Amino acid sequence: MSRSDLGWGSSPAEQANPRSGLVIHYDSSDQNLANKNHSSCVTYWRNTRSFHTGPSRGWADIGYSWMACPHGYVLEGRGLYRTQAAQPGGNSSHYSCTLATGPSDPITPDQINAVRQLRQWLMEPDTSISGKVLGHRDFISTSCPGDKAYALVKDGTFAKAPGNTEGDDDMPSHRRFEKDKAQKLEPGSWASLAFDKRHDGETGEFYALVGVEETKGAYYDISVGVTLEGLDSGAEAQIRLTEYEPNGDGGWKVARNRPIDSPVHVGGRAHFTYSWKGNLGEGRRVRVRVAQYGKVEAQVTSATADVFYWKR
Ligand SMILES: [Zn+2]
Ligand SMILES: [Zn+2]
Repeated sequence: MSRSDLGWGSSPAEQANPRSGLVIHYDSSDQNLANKNHSSCVTYWRNTRSFHTGPSRGWADIGYSWMACPHGYVLEGRGLYRTQAAQPGGNSSHYSCTLATGPSDPITPDQINAVRQLRQWLMEPDTSISGKVLGHRDFISTSCPGDKAYALVKDGTFAKAPGNTEGDDDMPSHRRFEKDKAQKLEPGSWASLAFDKRHDGETGEFYALVGVEETKGAYYDISVGVTLEGLDSGAEAQIRLTEYEPNGDGGWKVARNRPIDSPVHVGGRAHFTYSWKGNLGEGRRVRVRVAQYGKVEAQVTSATADVFYWKR
């Protein structure tokens, strides 16, 4: 999205010809843009410009050259051939690009690809900048661009060639989730399973198996194995996948329940598996939910989920 799309006219900032590379920035507070529509990115960008040119900063223009948003778009700030107010010590030698992510915000694959596309474009003959990618903290002592983005700067992720974003890649992506922490299951109500480990070594509380980074939706094929303990003899257990969508209030509501599987159970400990394929709409997420209909509390003691998905 260019300045003229934004209605901004050409940047009043001083001319420069930054040639030494691209510097990555972030926002010091979480913006949650990955879970909002792209129009929120445009609003963020406009607000950032107002803040930078307003009384507290008083700069000539928005501080950065560009923003790469979680939906995979590049938004123009000062743009080409302008000095910036982004990384003192490198404002006229390097271009700047903010991810607009806060410390806990995800950096999406589309966003990484947007930085790669920007970098490749800047390296083309017209501008011919160095392919070097740095972080703000390489210039001065600052938390920027955050530990997540800085790790991607250091391991060369941003300096790779951009991928194909046209969605004609037939190979599915894969994720695997595991759960070792026991989770209580009250009789008669559905509980979303919290997985505690992911294939890439990340640990935490993962409820959504697909849809966190696939903001434009995905086709998925999910297989889940669950072990229940403490079930009443003869009690029925049920498992299903459920798609959630934002409830407009920062939370999530059920968008669509997938068919229930209700395995036969012999009492005490039960292991069962479930799989489902589906077409996940834009902005939705998939969770696994389990219910049991005994008289006493039971526990999910372990679970695994294999997730194959094709992004749209
Ligand atoms: Zn910065
Ligand atoms: Zn966006």
